[in-house]
Amino acid sequence: MARIAGWVGAGLLLCVAILAIYGYGQVVSLDVARITDDVHVIYGLGGNVGVLRSDAGSVIVDTMTFPMQGRELRERARAIAGPVQAVVNTHHHSDHTHGNPAFAAGLPVISTAKTRAYLDAVDAEFWQGEAAKTLPGQTFEDSHTLEVGGKTVRLLHPGPGHTDGDLVALFVEDRVLHTGDLFFNGRYPNIDLEAGGSVQEWSATIDRVLALDFDHVIPGHGPVTDADGLRDFQRFMQQLAAVGEEAARTGRSLVDTQGRATLDADAGYEVLAIPFVMRLDRDFVLRRAWEEATGNFERIQIPGGE
Ligand SMILES: [Zn+2]
Repeated sequence: MARIAGWVGAGLLLCVAILAIYGYGQVVSLDVARITDDVHVIYGLGGNVGVLRSDAGSVIVDTMTFPMQGRELRERARAIAGPVQAVVNTHHHSDHTHGNPAFAAGLPVISTAKTRAYLDAVDAEFWQGEAAKTLPGQTFEDSHTLEVGGKTVRLLHPGPGHTDGDLVALFVEDRVLHTGDLFFNGRYPNIDLEAGGSVQEWSATIDRVLALDFDHVIPGHGPVTDADGLRDFQRFMQQLAAVGEEAARTGRSLVDTQGRATLDADAGYEVLAIPFVMRLDRDFVLRRAWEEATGNFERIQIPGGE
């Protein structure tokens, strides 16, 4: 009996080990794709990462979800574009920032001031000890230009949408734009009303992004595309805003709003499900549109926030 129990135990242990190795493999598995000679995108578990090569090393936009991914990203960036000279965080969500601690303390880490304030307000537990040294230390309100090794990176906060602190990063010479989560390509977006996100204002914010000069777009999630791809997403956000407006005007309930909504710009959109955390699907975005229009949500308080 004891011997059988021993074998069962060993078998279980082996299963757990295999699962752990598989899980680790999933987490650190990255796909690198070239966009121009000097700009690459890295896809993985979390937000898309942009890597710019300059004569002085690389600039990386966003760092995915886990410090161990950050280490992997750091090495990939070094291999394709030289040692990382600066890190940009498009916004505060963990799937775009939690790889930061893998980068050297003292490296410039840049975000908007609001993004930094949200990190301090809602994610302080993660940013303890050594990790705190890789919080964004250079912040700005509206725009900021970064010059590295003959390349220009223009950072712009175009307005509220996904949160009210997002930035987009334009690799000027290469005409590539990283939008962060202001653009989910072919999938339902997360809408962080609590951090100032807005269905109603998102489309006007995209107008300001479309005024920039670029050929290629790296979205926060989904495949690389162009301005037309971004315009398709804008049309979806306009439809969603109309649903919210109508719900507010007619006093429609949430269930009614979800049942009757006349969205069709989401045809073919992928659902992103993170077990026990969130499910980004049609019901989710309709709920957010309704909650914003009817005021059924609560803002995170940050210093200087409205
Ligand atoms: Zn996000």
